[in-house]
Amino acid sequence: MPIVGIDLGTTNSAIAVLDGRVPVLLADTNGQYILPSVVHITPQNKIVVGSEAEAAKVAMPARTVSTVKRHMGQDEQLLLGPHRLLPEEITALILKELKIRAQAHYGLTDQDPLEAVITVPAYFTDQQRRATKRAGELAGLVVERIINEPTAAALAFGLGRKDQRGHVIIYDLGGGTFDVSIVEMFDGILEVKASRGNSHLGGEDFDWLIVDYLADIVKEQSGIDPLDDLRAKALLKQHAEVAKKELSQAESAEINIPLLSFENDQPVGLSQVLGREDFEQMIAAHLEETMDCVRGVLEDAQFTAGEIDRIILVGGSTRIPKVAQLMQDFFGRVPRRDIDPDQAVALGASVQAGIKAGSISPEILIATDVAPFSMGVAAVAPVDGSPTPGVFSVIIPRNTTIPVRRTDQYFTHSPGQTAVSIEIYQGELEWAKQNHFLGEFVLDGIPENYKEAEQINVTFGYDLNGILEVTARAESNGKEMSIKVNDQIDRDSRHAFAASIKRLEGLQQGTAASFHQESLPLEWDSDDDDEDEDFAMEELTADEFVATLKRTLAEADELIGDLSKPQQKRMRRFMDKLTRAFEEDDLAQAEALLEELLDLLFRLEMGEWDES
Ligand code: ADP
Ligand code: MG
Repeated sequence: MPIVGIDLGTTNSAIAVLDGRVPVLLADTNGQYILPSVVHITPQNKIVVGSEAEAAKVAMPARTVSTVKRHMGQDEQLLLGPHRLLPEEITALILKELKIRAQAHYGLTDQDPLEAVITVPAYFTDQQRRATKRAGELAGLVVERIINEPTAAALAFGLGRKDQRGHVIIYDLGGGTFDVSIVEMFDGILEVKASRGNSHLGGEDFDWLIVDYLADIVKEQSGIDPLDDLRAKALLKQHAEVAKKELSQAESAEINIPLLSFENDQPVGLSQVLGREDFEQMIAAHLEETMDCVRGVLEDAQFTAGEIDRIILVGGSTRIPKVAQLMQDFFGRVPRRDIDPDQAVALGASVQAGIKAGSISPEILIATDVAPFSMGVAAVAPVDGSPTPGVFSVIIPRNTTIPVRRTDQYFTHSPGQTAVSIEIYQGELEWAKQNHFLGEFVLDGIPENYKEAEQINVTFGYDLNGILEVTARAESNGKEMSIKVNDQIDRDSRHAFAASIKRLEGLQQGTAASFHQESLPLEWDSDDDDEDEDFAMEELTADEFVATLKRTLAEADELIGDLSKPQQKRMRRFMDKLTRAFEEDDLAQAEALLEELLDLLFRLEMGEWDES
């Protein structure tokens, strides 16, 4: 079966294969290697992924989803136009787009199986990994392996450097996540010693800091808050990112947005210069946090800064000169630029794929990884001398090399106790409940013993994908129970999986949003809009929603004079309907109508709403 490596990034994704023993990225039909991780649904119900979707983001923010990776592992559905989708379903659309490249490369049809190694941040939890795996399966991939992004980068670096030995630090700062790993290299063996990170820290956060700064200026100058307006917010974000990137080259960047919003019929614009130092100040605390992780990971690996031989920077945000500077100051050596920060992870994933497929022999290259979190159970343990329940008892400590199996002994604590509850957590804090809950089960049938405590052995097995299996066994009678931590969720999720597939199929056929057809102006005030009653602009707060609603109605009011009489009539009716729904507190309806109105305004702006 052909096999690919996929870097599924917050901002950008890529797919790579081995060409012989050389990893290469696969391009789309336009020759683009990097796929922006953005999904858009057009008013005609067509799904587009990548740069086209990114381009549509400012004009149609409610029809566009970006940075979905930040939601991975959560149950809450996101909004893609009128559709509500789980994060892994939206991610599946990104993966499908990448899969097309592989199908073209290998000459495969949709029926042919395709295996994939998909990367995740080292600091992803069990839940987030599981969601990623499911996204792959929803996209029709056979997910061979989930590997950590910095480990993949190390593999890309290690290939062809068999005779190099030493300690490498991989600092990966992308759009949404930060990871840092220390890897020991010798004889083609890459041994990850320790990993740390933050799955909610990256270039996106820097953009939003600039957005806040710019929004304050607009507020001061015009009195309006551009963040209340969905489109103005998207526009600010876009300009913020451009300016941020410019500041990696230049000492200052100019931000010019002539038409950001309207206030009393007057256009509100923004013109501002941002200096590199101001920007560096804005992000200083974030960068300091990454350096805390660097210090922490050194400590975990028991190395000093002087023992690190090589610094590898990965991820788009490491192009910020201050990042390289901080690393250089800390380690006293210049970071390497010899692997492409945008490609390393995908290339490395394909190297892992090649190792799996046998085209790269493990004698040439092999990587071992570690568990980024401690894992254990809630137990009764002495605290200040007295037995206390709810203490986090670690079975697999952080940074243990994986795969790993460990068993610890526990005892029943009340006389005659016949059942114990095994509550499983991951994290580093003292109390079980302060950590991330993974699952639980009850082991019963323990012999009723009033004389002494019964011994229960708890075994944790943590596999190469970062997925945990737990077994508990009553020693005296051999009664045993075991769960794969994901089993619990998997059991009710067979249903969920089928539902996801159905929703994705619905998307492609456009069934769920039948009122959004090309003939939209005519069908527009027909009464079939209620079929989308579960539509909601979920990402907006109530205040944002009201502000967006008012802003959009005002915008429509401004435009109405330019319309033909029948268009004016339809527009009025539509606006009345929206106002009424809002006043009657029918929010689902109001939201659906608002979404349509936003689309319509966009079409008017683009001259696409004809008289038909
Ligand atoms: P991810 O792996 O999270 O998808 P990437 O590694 O592709 O992210 O990095 C994307 C991030 O890098 C974005 O936040 C983007 O704005 C930022 N970025 C890209 N180029 C530059 C640059 N020249 N200067 C500063 N930031 C940059
Ligand atoms: Mg990345």
